[in-house]
Amino acid sequence: MTAANSLQPGEPTHWTERPGPVAVLTGAGISTASGIPDFRGPQGLWTKNPIAELTANYRDYLGDPELRVRSWIARRDNPAWDAEPNAAHLALTGLEKHRSVRILTQNIDRLHQKAGSTPRKVLELHGNMFEAECTRSTELCGWRGTMREVLDRVAAGEPDPQCERCGAILKAATIMFGQHLDEDLLGRAAAFARASTVFLAVGSSLRVHPAAGLCELAVDAGADLVIVNNEPTAYDDLATEVVREPIEEALPRLVERLARAAQA
Ligand SMILES: [Zn+2]
Repeated sequence: MTAANSLQPGEPTHWTERPGPVAVLTGAGISTASGIPDFRGPQGLWTKNPIAELTANYRDYLGDPELRVRSWIARRDNPAWDAEPNAAHLALTGLEKHRSVRILTQNIDRLHQKAGSTPRKVLELHGNMFEAECTRSTELCGWRGTMREVLDRVAAGEPDPQCERCGAILKAATIMFGQHLDEDLLGRAAAFARASTVFLAVGSSLRVHPAAGLCELAVDAGADLVIVNNEPTAYDDLATEVVREPIEEALPRLVERLARAAQA
């Protein structure tokens, strides 16, 4: 039995020549050239000078008011507010014109959308930092608003603003450690990964699951896995090709080849 996207006899064998959908998983490494530090890499803030607030465990966050106060400050000071997309983000917007593309991003910085990628084609697996949400479930409250309006309340003297609708704790609309990913979103990401002929994993250490496991789904279904990352990842052995160049240089070139394959 062959998967729908497996190679058929007579089809091109090099991944850059395979037509079909392209899934692109992006991690922190794609945004470092935009001035956003990689919190998990070897030079990352998380390991070097922990801004623990940004990588806090959800349960600690709920239980520790001081941690929440520091978290709002860290959100206010996040470099992503002023960051601009780089050549790698821009290259991916161009690929949309030639191929069916979904960007499955672990980043919360919205730089893909800022670069011009179609919002519905960017699946934010870990949420985003520009929105805030109530920690009470949709059934009980489910308030959602902009991060800016909550930070305005912080600036006005509320160090840990509560939900104005129900009084519960607020947080960024990101997936914190100890929280589950949105099942519907993950299901859509997995379906696209399985349907892709090429799965590009860009700037991700591929250590955080279940996002990282999407590579494996794609390869099992017949996709070529191409990893662009400056350090080894746990999935290098599964990859058709591993690229170790700076992402903002490598990606425009790879994207150009993928675009050409669609026209061949
Ligand atoms: Zn609420």
